[in-house]
Amino acid sequence: MSVQGLRLQDINKSFAGVEALGNINLDIQSGEFFTLLGPSGCGKTTLLRIIAGFEIPDRGQVLLHGQDISQKSAMQRPVNTVFQSYALFPHLNVYENVAFGLRSKRVSGPEVDRRVKNALEMLRLTEFAQRHSHQMSGGQQQRVALARALVNEPEVLLLDEPLSALDAKLRTEVQVELRRLQHQLGTTFILVTHDQDEAMSVSDRIAVMRRGAVEQVGVPREVYATPKSRFVAEFLGLANVIQAKIEQKTATTAFGRLQLDSIPAWKDGMLVIRPERVQLCEDPPLVNTFPSKVRDVVYRGSYLEVWLDREDLRVRTPPHQHLSVGQDIYVHFPAEALVPLEVTS
Ligand code: ATP
Repeated sequence: MSVQGLRLQDINKSFAGVEALGNINLDIQSGEFFTLLGPSGCGKTTLLRIIAGFEIPDRGQVLLHGQDISQKSAMQRPVNTVFQSYALFPHLNVYENVAFGLRSKRVSGPEVDRRVKNALEMLRLTEFAQRHSHQMSGGQQQRVALARALVNEPEVLLLDEPLSALDAKLRTEVQVELRRLQHQLGTTFILVTHDQDEAMSVSDRIAVMRRGAVEQVGVPREVYATPKSRFVAEFLGLANVIQAKIEQKTATTAFGRLQLDSIPAWKDGMLVIRPERVQLCEDPPLVNTFPSKVRDVVYRGSYLEVWLDREDLRVRTPPHQHLSVGQDIYVHFPAEALVPLEVTS
C-alpha cells in the first residue's frame, strides 16, 4: 500500500499469558470507514486501544503514514476515541462539553469558539448548545460525544461500540448520520462492533475477527456474499450449510448433484448459500433444481421466511409468493450463489 494511512504490523498482545491478539496485520487507508467486527472476546477492543495508545502491544508496530507511532503516548497521537459510555460532564452545557478538551489544551478563545461552533453545526447540535445532558435524548448525547472528539480534528477517529446504548430505531438513524459525517469530513473512522448489520451499513471495509485473529477483510458485499470460512458466513447473517463431496465442478449433496461455477481445490467440504439466494419455483427449471416440500412458512412483511423439509434449508422469498405448509415445491440453487468451503474452515 501507499504510505498514506494506518498500518498495523505483526501486532501481538497477551494478558497474563493468555493471547488476546496474535499477529495482526492490517492496512487501513486514509479516509476509510473501517470496521473491526467480531464476537465478544475476539480482541477488537484491545486492538482499538493499541491504536489509541492506551495499550502497548507485546510485539509489533502501529505506523501512521509510514511513521512508527508505537512509542507515542495517547495524547501525542492524532487519534481520538468515542467510547461506549459517552459520559458527558453533567455540570457543563453542550457547548462547554465540546469546548472542554480544547480549553485544557490552552487553545485561544476565538479558536475554541470557531471550532466548537463548527463541530456543533456539523452534528446538527447548534440549537442545543445551552442544554445540559439530562435535557437531551440518548441519540443527541451520542452526537455531543462525537462532537467532543471531532472538535480536536483528529486524523483517525476510533469508535468503540458507540451506538450500543441506543434503541434499534435510533441506532439505524445514527448509523446513517455517522456515514454522512465520515464522508463529509474524510477522516479515517475505525469502528468496533459485534453487530453485523451495523458493520455492513456503515463500512467501506470490514475486518471479521475471531479469537485474536483477522479471519477475513473485505468490502461488505464481499464478506457477505463470498465468505472464506463457515465462521464468517454464519457471523454475517443467516447461511445454509450443505455438506458436499466435490469432483471438478460437480458437488454431490443430500439434495443430489449440484453444478458449481468454479473448481475448488478440495474434495470434502461444504457449500454455503444465503437464504435469499435460494429460489423456490413451481416448475423445475434447468440444472441445480430438486423437488422439496414446505415445512414451515412465516410472513415477515418484506419477505417470506420458509423452511423446507430437507436439510433444514431456510429460504427467503418475496412476500407476494403464495406458499403453504406441506406444499410440494422445487428448490433451485443458482450456481453463482453457491460458495464452496473447505471442511476445516
Ligand atoms: P467485547 O465485545 O466483549 O468487548 P472484544 O472483542 O472487544 O470483546 P477484548 O476486550 O479486546 O475483546 O478482549 C480480548 C481478550 O483479552 C478477552 O479474552 C479478554 O478477557 C482479554 N482482556 C482484555 N483486556 C484485558 C485486561 N486488561 N486484562 C486481562 N485480560 C484482558
